[in-house]
Amino acid sequence: MNYLFYLIGAVILSKAMAMKHPEKISKHITFAEAIRSSTAIRYGIKNIPNSKQLENMELTAMHIFEPVRRHFNIPIRVNSFFRSKELNKKLKYSNPKSQHCSGQAIDISSLRMNVSNADLFNYIKDNLEFDQLIWEFGNDNSPAWVHVSFSNNKNRKQVLKAIARNGKKYYINY
Ligand SMILES: [Zn+2]
Repeated sequence: MNYLFYLIGAVILSKAMAMKHPEKISKHITFAEAIRSSTAIRYGIKNIPNSKQLENMELTAMHIFEPVRRHFNIPIRVNSFFRSKELNKKLKYSNPKSQHCSGQAIDISSLRMNVSNADLFNYIKDNLEFDQLIWEFGNDNSPAWVHVSFSNNKNRKQVLKAIARNGKKYYINY
């Protein structure tokens, strides 16, 4: 009998712990897609933001992702959003100061042929408040994806282009 109570208690406790996270970061971003990472799965890394990181994610989603989503009115892919420090270290080209680790940066790409990643990039550049916007690899017509961050303290409005040379990542001014 005691064992049964213990079991019920454990189930309730694990449910309560799972409930600590909201289901959504914003209207169009679920918590699950905001923490998704194939690398985290591969290495068995828990990729869960704390409350401060979560607050930053909500701000980035509210000030960047949702306005882009609203403007183009198409589904936008969240390539990468939150990354714990442990996960960040495992990634190719990882930057120890990555704003993904604070929940301030998001990587996005278009899921429709009639809207390019360059369109997303240009819309953000010309219309939104952001800290850093990066044209990530790709070619001159379109980036492979768009990296963008938002800071509630000070937005630098820095626009960069990321290129790969000899297996290293370099940033040049856009
Ligand atoms: Zn990024």
